[in-house]
Amino acid sequence: MMRHLLVLGGTTEGRELAAALDGRPALRVTSSLAGRVANPRLPAGEVRIGGFGGPEGLADWLRAERVDAVVDATHPFAAGMSQNAALAAAATGVPLLVLRRPGFTPVEGDRWLPVPSLAAAADLLPRRGERVLLTTGRQGIAAFAHVDGVHFIARSVDPPEPPLPPSFEVLLDRGPFTVQGEEALLRAHRIDVLVTKDSGGAATAPKLTAARGLRLPVVIVERPPVPDGVPVVPDVAGAVHWLEQLG
Ligand code: NAP
Repeated sequence: MMRHLLVLGGTTEGRELAAALDGRPALRVTSSLAGRVANPRLPAGEVRIGGFGGPEGLADWLRAERVDAVVDATHPFAAGMSQNAALAAAATGVPLLVLRRPGFTPVEGDRWLPVPSLAAAADLLPRRGERVLLTTGRQGIAAFAHVDGVHFIARSVDPPEPPLPPSFEVLLDRGPFTVQGEEALLRAHRIDVLVTKDSGGAATAPKLTAARGLRLPVVIVERPPVPDGVPVVPDVAGAVHWLEQLG
């Protein structure tokens, strides 16, 4: 019988899953956050913050806390944590599910330039525009630190740390955003190219709609793969269903 669920979070879906399960009788739900954001939005129920110490540390934690199942609801680009979860689940025999929101889908009028990595996005830039809106997250900015001849406007929840590009300003903000607001931002800063990750999700999609409206190119970093052999669901309802099947 399912008594203790670990949700690897740091995402809207992680919070929604914890909220959906909160108050279920005889079920303990612990949400785990990496501790990257200074003032995180906390999920319902128990929360622990900080790394586990690699896959071995996570496996030890699963055993010590008698965890019956893990839902990896981390961000699609948190590939290290997803890999660790897969290794720890395999080592302990604890069932693991990946809850991963679908990626963005291009529509008529989009001018997307898909790239496999942040480094590849940086390589493309000097040829694609001079004023860049960068929404790759605080930790992604370092990949652009060597790019000259481009002015970067980076949006992040917390201030980024060096190394930073030579011509750079930061906008501290956190979604959800609106199409109208994004359009105003792109115009006000005279942005000529948007650089983002294929994170998916409604909270950050408006920038893509706004870029389409303004006919701006979007350099979009493709997602890393989900670890082999781990089941994946696209939404919270799918995760709740998986948990109910486990009993
Ligand atoms: P990452 O590179 O995949 O993970 C690096 C290390 O951070 C992991 O090995 C683990 O440390 C620790 N960690 C990551 N997620 C954790 C969690 N939920 N609970 C406990 N420890 C965690 O991860 P990341 O890309 O830096 O993302 C960190 C967190 O921010 C994740 O929870 C993710 O959901 C959230 N987030 C990430 C992005 C993004 O673009 N990457 C965007 C929004 C939110 P140990 O090895 O010591 O266990």
